[in-house]
Amino acid sequence: MNSGPLRTLVRYGYFPFMVLGLNGAAYYVVAYGHSYAWLALLIGILLATAFAAERILPWYEEWNHSHGDEKTNIFHAIVYEAQNLNGILTIPLVAWLTSGSLNAGIWPTDWPILAQLILAVVLADFALTYLHYLSHRFSFLWRLHAVHHGVARLYGFNGLVRHPLHQIIDLVLGTAPLALAGMPVEVAALLGFVITVQLVVQHSNVAYALGPLRNHLAIGQIHHLHHVNWGKEGDCNFGLFFTIWDRMLGTFHPEPPRPITARDMGVDEVPDFPKRYMDQLAFPLHYKPGEGVQSGLKTKAETQKPPQTAAAQARALHDAAE
Ligand SMILES: [Zn+2]
Repeated sequence: MNSGPLRTLVRYGYFPFMVLGLNGAAYYVVAYGHSYAWLALLIGILLATAFAAERILPWYEEWNHSHGDEKTNIFHAIVYEAQNLNGILTIPLVAWLTSGSLNAGIWPTDWPILAQLILAVVLADFALTYLHYLSHRFSFLWRLHAVHHGVARLYGFNGLVRHPLHQIIDLVLGTAPLALAGMPVEVAALLGFVITVQLVVQHSNVAYALGPLRNHLAIGQIHHLHHVNWGKEGDCNFGLFFTIWDRMLGTFHPEPPRPITARDMGVDEVPDFPKRYMDQLAFPLHYKPGEGVQSGLKTKAETQKPPQTAAAQARALHDAAE
């Protein structure tokens, strides 16, 4: 079968469909008062499109192969969206609790919803990019954020791989200030949706074309460089939506110092990153940033335990006596 036209369609159509098409559909759902349940369907289309496009035009064929991480990543995606929804649902509560006090009504609720959404994206992008930058500088934040960087390949689901505590920090410091400023629920729901689309596009293994936008959007190769396991060389390109904040921080690196290969993703100190969800949740407790290669974090902890059974203890004593 000649897959040429299909590949061309994905190369030039993927980015506009995901960003303009799906975000546009979400805007239609929210701005015209339809049920928010439609947003869940749109997220299903988002993920299905990413997976189909990854099969047709991958950046790296190897990233399409199973790394034994699917179940864990699906779990991450569910937890991520549930927390997102929780964050949005608490906005009316925050507004009620702060009405007349903290909520001074600074948010321009009289603007059209689209203009409010653009403002929310720009402000959230600044806050989340700066938090991301700090997450690579401070050990206690990096331990949590490292769970996102433990992935050995990038594909649709990986954008939603977060330690839930890190996501709470993002929600509280990155987007809650907007809610306190009086951002309405409709705008918050759209912001949550737009961020999900961005995370999926940012991490999906699709060789989409960006043309002149390539150095202005924090996706594609710009974000691949952020995920390399080359020591400190990935400490750049922290942006979520735009590269402007990295340019201001002096952390914008448009070109990798050498070609990035499919095997360059991950955390260099932890080459065999835990794959099970519960082990990833516990990971920040065991990880010691900056103390060299720590392979088999879990196995090491387990081997340090004394023998469990009486028989095993007797065997250990017997071995020691020999
Ligand atoms: Zn990062």
